[in-house]
Amino acid sequence: MKMHNFYAGPAILPKEVIKEAAKGVLNFNNSGLSVLEISHRSKDFTKVIETAEALIKELLNLPDNYHVLFTTGGASSQFFMIPMNLLNKDETAYYVNTGTWSTKAIAEANHFGNLVELASSADKGFNYIPKYKTPNKGKYLHLTSNNTIYGTQIQHFPKGDLPIICDMSSDFLSRPIDVEKFGLIYAGAQKNLGPAGVTVVIVRDDMLGTVKRHIPTLLDYRTFVKKGSMFNTPPAYPIYVSMLTLKWLKAKGGVEKMERLNKSKAKLLYKELETNPLFSPNIPNNRDRSLMNVTFQITNPKLEADFLAEAEANGIVGIKGHRSVGGFRASIYNAMPRSSVKVLTDLMADYTKRKG
Ligand SMILES: *Cc1c(COP(=O)(O)O)cnc(C)c1O
Repeated sequence: MKMHNFYAGPAILPKEVIKEAAKGVLNFNNSGLSVLEISHRSKDFTKVIETAEALIKELLNLPDNYHVLFTTGGASSQFFMIPMNLLNKDETAYYVNTGTWSTKAIAEANHFGNLVELASSADKGFNYIPKYKTPNKGKYLHLTSNNTIYGTQIQHFPKGDLPIICDMSSDFLSRPIDVEKFGLIYAGAQKNLGPAGVTVVIVRDDMLGTVKRHIPTLLDYRTFVKKGSMFNTPPAYPIYVSMLTLKWLKAKGGVEKMERLNKSKAKLLYKELETNPLFSPNIPNNRDRSLMNVTFQITNPKLEADFLAEAEANGIVGIKGHRSVGGFRASIYNAMPRSSVKVLTDLMADYTKRKG
């Protein structure tokens, strides 16, 4: 049966990438060796990591003063690495709280400097992107561009004097961004880029070297910059597969093309949710809705388990909502074909005719 993978993360990867990644495990570049068993210092692997870095720079149009780093510990480790590297005890960082991930980032940053929660959407179960005035003093402004669990997304990043630090884990490379607004961008690979195990950090040069505290070598961004993310053994296979996805993304037409496809997929699904009387989207305001994670409810909760079972019988997996929200969530990342979204909306329409 054809499977339609709507998991939120680890998540769908392009079919072509999976095939190539499998080939690399068996016989990497016709070397007679597996990509899993070659030295990270070998010529072949050096080329992999350099290509991945170059493709991220190219796809996002990064100016020369931005570094691309490959770290471990997930996006969650960035919650403390960021303030540890960027924020002195007597300096202020502003955080906008838009959900579980921002809440966790705030909890970590609190220990390193003066933290101000600039705005929050906790009052309404994080179902909107809050408004705020961008401060003109302080060290940085931390935002979460896409809230994977709740299904909201920032559509316009504020202009201002503060560099934006942004958790883009679940919408990295899903659309063009105005890079110059950002001091640092981070993304765990397992949502929109590759397998779990590597986290991409993009950092502007002037953000580094401004804190007084001692930073352990492997938690210091400058170590990654100096050593090309190879102070120690990097997560070689996740980097390899991410590199394949980056090549795929470039061949598909880059982030502009992705944005168009992502908008078209999201439109199809939200339209069904708006017009189908049995389903409703969680996020009331169209402007705040995520193009990556579409969260919704079935208006007759008695049918929830039944619909989930029908979806699974049709090869649709991963649409159960996060345990903290309930209902449903369809994650429609870059690699998700529009045809799979159509399979889901067709099933919803048909289901409502039969049982609505
Ligand atoms: C999944 C996710 C995280 C956590 O990522 P880990 O790699 O598991 O630490 C952080 N932020 C966002 C927005 C996410 O979607």
